[in-house]
Amino acid sequence: MRNYYSKSNVHSHTTFSDGRNSAEEMVRAALALGFHTLGFSEHGPADYDDSAMPTEREPEYRAEILRLREAYAGRINLLLGLEHDWLSPTDVSEYDYYIESVHYVPVGGEKWSVDWTREKLEAALAEHYGDDPYALCRDYFRTVCESVEGTGAAILGHIELVMKFNEKRDLFDDTDPRYLKYALECAELAAKSGRLIEINTGAIAKGYRTTPYPGAAMLKRIRECGGRIIITSDCHNSDFLDCAFAEVAALARACGFKTAWEYRGAAQAEYPL
Ligand SMILES: [Zn+2]
Ligand SMILES: [Zn+2]
Repeated sequence: MRNYYSKSNVHSHTTFSDGRNSAEEMVRAALALGFHTLGFSEHGPADYDDSAMPTEREPEYRAEILRLREAYAGRINLLLGLEHDWLSPTDVSEYDYYIESVHYVPVGGEKWSVDWTREKLEAALAEHYGDDPYALCRDYFRTVCESVEGTGAAILGHIELVMKFNEKRDLFDDTDPRYLKYALECAELAAKSGRLIEINTGAIAKGYRTTPYPGAAMLKRIRECGGRIIITSDCHNSDFLDCAFAEVAALARACGFKTAWEYRGAAQAEYPL
Protein backbone atom coordinates (compact mmCIF):
# COMPACT_ATOMS: atom_id res chain seq x y z
CA MET A 1 0.00 0.00 0.00
CA ARG A 2 1.36 3.39 -0.92
CA ASN A 3 0.89 6.33 1.35
CA TYR A 4 1.90 9.88 0.66
CA TYR A 5 1.58 11.12 4.19
CA SER A 6 5.10 12.46 4.59
CA LYS A 7 6.42 13.70 1.28
CA SER A 8 9.94 13.88 2.54
CA ASN A 9 12.75 11.39 2.99
CA VAL A 10 16.26 12.23 4.12
CA HIS A 11 17.83 8.77 4.26
CA SER A 12 18.67 7.84 0.66
CA HIS A 13 21.52 6.00 -1.07
CA THR A 14 22.63 6.04 -4.69
CA THR A 15 25.27 4.50 -6.92
CA PHE A 16 27.83 6.69 -5.13
CA SER A 17 27.74 3.93 -2.50
CA ASP A 18 25.57 0.81 -2.38
CA GLY A 19 22.34 2.15 -3.89
CA ARG A 20 20.88 0.87 -7.18
CA ASN A 21 19.91 4.19 -8.77
CA SER A 22 21.70 7.39 -9.70
CA ALA A 23 20.99 10.52 -7.70
CA GLU A 24 19.01 12.01 -10.59
CA GLU A 25 16.87 8.86 -10.89
CA MET A 26 16.08 9.24 -7.21
CA VAL A 27 15.08 12.88 -7.75
CA ARG A 28 12.73 11.89 -10.58
CA ALA A 29 11.14 9.19 -8.43
CA ALA A 30 10.68 11.68 -5.58
CA LEU A 31 9.03 14.16 -7.95
CA ALA A 32 6.68 11.44 -9.21
CA LEU A 33 5.60 10.83 -5.61
CA GLY A 34 4.98 14.54 -5.05
CA PHE A 35 7.81 14.88 -2.53
CA HIS A 36 8.75 18.37 -1.42
CA THR A 37 12.11 17.30 0.05
CA LEU A 38 14.67 14.63 -0.70
CA GLY A 39 17.85 14.32 1.28
CA PHE A 40 20.82 12.27 0.10
CA SER A 41 22.74 10.50 2.84
CA GLU A 42 25.47 8.52 1.16
CA HIS A 43 27.55 6.22 3.35
CA GLY A 44 30.49 8.37 4.39
CA PRO A 45 33.94 6.96 3.65
CA ALA A 46 35.10 4.26 6.07
CA ASP A 47 38.15 2.20 5.20
CA TYR A 48 36.70 -0.88 6.94
CA ASP A 49 33.43 -0.79 4.99
CA ASP A 50 33.34 -2.04 1.39
CA SER A 51 29.88 -0.60 0.76
CA ALA A 52 30.81 2.94 1.82
CA MET A 53 31.49 5.71 -0.67
CA PRO A 54 35.20 5.78 -1.52
CA THR A 55 36.99 8.91 -0.28
CA GLU A 56 38.00 9.88 -3.81
CA ARG A 57 34.34 10.02 -4.91
CA GLU A 58 33.21 12.35 -2.15
CA PRO A 59 33.91 15.60 -4.08
CA GLU A 60 32.03 14.20 -7.08
CA TYR A 61 29.09 13.24 -4.85
CA ARG A 62 28.89 16.72 -3.37
CA ALA A 63 29.17 18.37 -6.79
CA GLU A 64 26.45 16.17 -8.28
CA ILE A 65 23.92 16.82 -5.49
CA LEU A 66 24.61 20.56 -5.68
CA ARG A 67 24.18 20.44 -9.47
CA LEU A 68 20.83 18.67 -9.07
CA ARG A 69 19.77 21.16 -6.41
CA GLU A 70 20.25 23.95 -8.93
CA ALA A 71 18.70 22.05 -11.81
CA TYR A 72 15.54 21.16 -9.86
CA ALA A 73 15.23 24.40 -7.85
CA GLY A 74 11.59 25.39 -7.41
CA ARG A 75 10.39 21.84 -7.99
CA ILE A 76 11.85 19.96 -5.03
CA ASN A 77 14.19 20.73 -2.13
CA LEU A 78 17.35 18.63 -2.34
CA LEU A 79 19.64 18.25 0.66
CA LEU A 80 23.25 17.21 0.71
CA GLY A 81 23.65 14.85 3.63
CA LEU A 82 25.76 11.97 4.77
CA GLU A 83 25.21 8.78 6.74
CA HIS A 84 28.21 8.72 9.00
CA ASP A 85 29.36 5.47 10.59
CA TRP A 86 30.17 6.12 14.23
CA LEU A 87 33.58 4.45 14.06
CA SER A 88 34.71 6.40 10.98
CA PRO A 89 36.85 9.55 11.33
CA THR A 90 35.19 11.11 8.25
CA ASP A 91 34.76 14.90 8.30
CA VAL A 92 31.07 15.89 8.15
CA SER A 93 31.46 19.66 8.05
CA GLU A 94 30.62 20.00 4.34
CA TYR A 95 27.08 18.66 4.64
CA ASP A 96 23.62 20.14 5.26
CA TYR A 97 22.97 17.46 7.87
CA TYR A 98 24.18 14.02 8.75
CA ILE A 99 22.81 10.82 10.21
CA GLU A 100 24.85 9.09 12.90
CA SER A 101 24.61 5.32 12.49
CA VAL A 102 26.22 2.39 14.22
CA HIS A 103 26.81 -0.43 11.74
CA TYR A 104 29.97 -1.81 13.35
CA VAL A 105 30.84 -2.85 16.87
CA PRO A 106 34.47 -2.88 18.04
CA VAL A 107 35.46 -6.18 19.58
CA GLY A 108 38.87 -7.73 20.11
CA GLY A 109 40.66 -5.01 18.14
CA GLU A 110 38.40 -5.57 15.12
CA LYS A 111 35.17 -4.09 13.85
CA TRP A 112 32.33 -6.41 12.98
CA SER A 113 29.11 -5.40 11.29
CA VAL A 114 25.63 -6.19 12.57
CA ASP A 115 24.10 -5.81 9.11
CA TRP A 116 26.27 -7.72 6.62
CA THR A 117 24.43 -11.02 6.56
CA ARG A 118 22.73 -13.34 9.00
CA GLU A 119 25.55 -15.85 8.51
CA LYS A 120 28.23 -13.31 9.40
CA LEU A 121 26.27 -12.20 12.44
CA GLU A 122 26.08 -15.82 13.61
CA ALA A 123 29.80 -16.25 12.96
CA ALA A 124 30.58 -13.15 15.06
CA LEU A 125 28.36 -14.51 17.81
CA ALA A 126 30.29 -17.77 17.89
CA GLU A 127 33.74 -16.20 17.51
CA HIS A 128 33.46 -13.27 19.91
CA TYR A 129 30.60 -14.01 22.28
CA GLY A 130 30.59 -17.74 22.94
CA ASP A 131 27.15 -17.83 21.28
CA ASP A 132 25.67 -15.53 23.93
CA PRO A 133 23.51 -13.16 21.87
CA TYR A 134 22.75 -10.93 24.85
CA ALA A 135 26.45 -10.14 25.22
CA LEU A 136 26.45 -9.12 21.57
CA CYS A 137 23.37 -6.94 22.13
CA ARG A 138 25.06 -5.37 25.17
CA ASP A 139 28.05 -4.37 23.06
CA TYR A 140 25.87 -3.16 20.21
CA PHE A 141 23.73 -0.91 22.42
CA ARG A 142 26.78 0.27 24.35
CA THR A 143 28.23 1.46 21.06
CA VAL A 144 24.96 3.14 20.08
CA CYS A 145 24.88 4.91 23.46
CA GLU A 146 28.44 6.13 22.93
CA SER A 147 27.40 7.49 19.54
CA VAL A 148 24.36 9.27 21.01
CA GLU A 149 26.53 10.93 23.64
CA GLY A 150 29.32 11.83 21.25
CA THR A 151 27.64 12.86 18.03
CA GLY A 152 26.65 16.26 16.69
CA ALA A 153 24.27 14.70 14.14
CA ALA A 154 20.75 15.94 13.49
CA ILE A 155 19.46 12.37 13.20
CA LEU A 156 20.20 9.11 14.99
CA GLY A 157 20.05 6.29 12.41
CA HIS A 158 18.31 2.92 12.93
CA ILE A 159 19.12 2.54 16.65
CA GLU A 160 17.91 -1.08 16.76
CA LEU A 161 19.80 -2.35 13.71
CA VAL A 162 20.87 -5.45 15.67
CA MET A 163 17.32 -6.76 14.96
CA LYS A 164 17.81 -6.68 11.18
CA PHE A 165 18.14 -10.46 10.78
CA ASN A 166 16.11 -11.43 13.82
CA GLU A 167 12.50 -10.69 13.05
CA LYS A 168 11.53 -14.29 13.89
CA ARG A 169 13.37 -13.99 17.23
CA ASP A 170 15.40 -17.09 16.43
CA LEU A 171 18.75 -15.47 17.22
CA PHE A 172 17.64 -13.87 20.49
CA ASP A 173 14.43 -12.72 22.14
CA ASP A 174 13.93 -8.97 22.06
CA THR A 175 11.24 -9.26 24.76
CA ASP A 176 13.72 -10.87 27.17
CA PRO A 177 14.77 -8.62 30.08
CA ARG A 178 18.41 -9.33 29.20
CA TYR A 179 17.79 -7.58 25.88
CA LEU A 180 15.35 -4.92 27.00
CA LYS A 181 17.68 -3.68 29.72
CA TYR A 182 20.14 -2.41 27.11
CA ALA A 183 17.60 -1.47 24.44
CA LEU A 184 15.46 0.65 26.76
CA GLU A 185 18.44 2.41 28.33
CA CYS A 186 19.53 3.30 24.82
CA ALA A 187 16.02 4.47 23.87
CA GLU A 188 15.93 6.74 26.90
CA LEU A 189 19.34 8.23 26.20
CA ALA A 190 18.44 8.83 22.55
CA ALA A 191 15.13 10.48 23.48
CA LYS A 192 16.75 12.77 26.02
CA SER A 193 19.45 13.81 23.54
CA GLY A 194 16.80 15.86 21.70
CA ARG A 195 18.05 14.59 18.34
CA LEU A 196 15.64 13.19 15.77
CA ILE A 197 15.34 9.42 16.11
CA GLU A 198 14.79 7.60 12.89
CA ILE A 199 12.09 4.99 12.35
CA ASN A 200 13.77 3.22 9.48
CA THR A 201 12.00 1.01 6.92
CA GLY A 202 15.09 -0.02 4.93
CA ALA A 203 14.95 -3.67 5.95
CA ILE A 204 11.31 -3.90 4.83
CA ALA A 205 12.21 -2.84 1.29
CA LYS A 206 15.03 -5.38 1.26
CA GLY A 207 12.72 -8.18 2.43
CA TYR A 208 14.47 -8.85 5.74
CA ARG A 209 11.68 -7.56 7.92
CA THR A 210 7.98 -6.66 7.88
CA THR A 211 8.33 -4.00 10.57
CA PRO A 212 10.78 -1.12 11.00
CA TYR A 213 13.43 -0.48 13.58
CA PRO A 214 13.36 0.62 16.30
CA GLY A 215 10.36 -1.54 17.21
CA ALA A 216 7.44 -0.95 19.56
CA ALA A 217 9.23 -1.47 22.89
CA MET A 218 11.93 1.10 22.14
CA LEU A 219 9.44 3.48 20.53
CA LYS A 220 7.21 3.46 23.60
CA ARG A 221 10.17 4.30 25.81
CA ILE A 222 11.26 7.04 23.40
CA ARG A 223 7.74 8.46 23.60
CA GLU A 224 7.68 8.30 27.41
CA CYS A 225 10.96 10.22 27.51
CA GLY A 226 9.78 12.95 25.15
CA GLY A 227 11.82 11.85 22.12
CA ARG A 228 11.26 13.11 18.57
CA ILE A 229 10.87 10.74 15.62
CA ILE A 230 11.41 11.00 11.87
CA ILE A 231 10.22 8.36 9.39
CA THR A 232 12.78 7.42 6.74
CA SER A 233 13.07 4.68 4.13
CA ASP A 234 16.89 4.26 4.08
CA CYS A 235 16.21 3.93 0.40
CA HIS A 236 18.66 1.98 -1.79
CA ASN A 237 16.22 1.73 -4.71
CA SER A 238 14.00 4.45 -6.17
CA ASP A 239 10.97 2.15 -6.03
CA PHE A 240 10.97 2.34 -2.24
CA LEU A 241 11.34 6.02 -1.42
CA ASP A 242 8.23 6.03 0.78
CA CYS A 243 8.30 2.34 1.71
CA ALA A 244 5.77 1.49 4.44
CA PHE A 245 5.33 5.12 5.55
CA ALA A 246 1.63 4.56 6.26
CA GLU A 247 2.25 1.46 8.36
CA VAL A 248 5.01 3.20 10.29
CA ALA A 249 2.80 6.18 11.03
CA ALA A 250 0.20 3.74 12.42
CA LEU A 251 2.85 2.01 14.55
CA ALA A 252 4.05 5.34 15.91
CA ARG A 253 0.48 6.32 16.82
CA ALA A 254 0.01 2.96 18.54
CA CYS A 255 3.15 3.69 20.58
CA GLY A 256 1.70 6.98 21.78
CA PHE A 257 3.16 9.49 19.36
CA LYS A 258 0.88 12.31 18.31
CA THR A 259 3.40 13.95 16.00
CA ALA A 260 6.48 13.19 13.94
CA TRP A 261 9.09 15.38 12.30
CA GLU A 262 10.23 15.77 8.74
CA TYR A 263 12.52 18.02 6.76
CA ARG A 264 10.89 20.73 4.70
CA GLY A 265 13.87 22.01 2.85
CA ALA A 266 16.64 22.41 5.39
CA ALA A 267 14.21 23.06 8.27
CA GLN A 268 12.86 20.43 10.65
CA ALA A 269 9.07 20.60 10.85
CA GLU A 270 6.60 18.84 13.14
CA TYR A 271 3.39 17.37 11.74
CA PRO A 272 0.45 15.51 13.28
CA LEU A 273 0.33 11.75 12.85
ZN1 LIG B 1 22.77 2.52 7.95
ZN1 LIG C 1 21.47 4.03 5.14
